[in-house]
Amino acid sequence: MERLSNENLRDNYLRILENIEKAKEKAGRKDTVRLMGVTKTVPTEIINEGISLGLDLIGESKVQEFLGKEQDYKMTETHFIGGLQSNKVKYIVDKVSCIQSVDSLKLAKEISKRATTADKVMDILLQINIGDEASKGGFPKEMLDEALGEISKLPSVRIRGLMTIPPIDGDEKYFSQMNKMFVDIQSKKGDNSNSDNFLWDTLSMGMSGDYEKAIYYGSNIVRIGSLLFGYRNY
Ligand SMILES: *Cc1c(COP(=O)(O)O)cnc(C)c1O
Repeated sequence: MERLSNENLRDNYLRILENIEKAKEKAGRKDTVRLMGVTKTVPTEIINEGISLGLDLIGESKVQEFLGKEQDYKMTETHFIGGLQSNKVKYIVDKVSCIQSVDSLKLAKEISKRATTADKVMDILLQINIGDEASKGGFPKEMLDEALGEISKLPSVRIRGLMTIPPIDGDEKYFSQMNKMFVDIQSKKGDNSNSDNFLWDTLSMGMSGDYEKAIYYGSNIVRIGSLLFGYRNY
C-alpha cells in the first residue's frame, strides 16, 4: 500500500465530510450521518492520524487484525463490521460498542451470553443480505421479522437497526428496499417498545463507491475505507 501523507488523509476526510453534507441536503435531511473509518489493512499510525482529525468512529472487520492493533488506537468508538464466527465473540465483546454484522440467531445468542458475562449490553445491527448473494453474509430479507422476534428476547443485546453490503452492480433498488424495511419496522416499533433491548435508530449502508446514494436512501452510518485511507489490496 502506498503510504498516505497526512495531507492526503486530511483532504480525503474533509472532502468526504463535505460530500456527506451535500448528499444530506439533496435528500432534504437534517439528521446526523456518521462517517465510519473502515480500517482493515490500515496501520495504526494512520488510523490515529484520522482520529486526530476528528474521526470518531472506527470499523474493524477482522478479529485477528483488530486484536493485534486495538491497544495502539487512541480512544475512540469502535464497531465490528465483518463476518464473525460465534467462537470469536469472546475476544471482542469488551472492545467494541456495537456489532453490526449479526447474521444468525446463533451469533446473537453468543453475543448476549458473552455480554452478560462482561456485564454489559451490546448494541447490534442485523445484517441483511439484500441481494441474496451466496458470497455474502446476512439474513435473507424474508427472515427479518422472525429474527427480530427471537433476538429481541435475548437479555444482553440491544437491537439498533440494520446493516447491509449490497451487490456490486450499484442498483439503487437495494438501498431503496433497505430503507423500506428500516422505516416499516420503525413505524411498527410500538409493538416492541416495552423492551429495553430495542432502540431502532441506525441504518448502516454505503461505502466508498456509493455512500452518497446510500445517504439519499436514509443511511445514517456510512462505512468508508479506501476513499479515506487510500487504495489497497483486499
Ligand atoms: C471494507 C469494508 C467497507 C469499506 O469498503 P470501501 O469500499 O473500502 O470503502 C465497508 N463495510 C465493510 C463491511 C467492509 O468490509
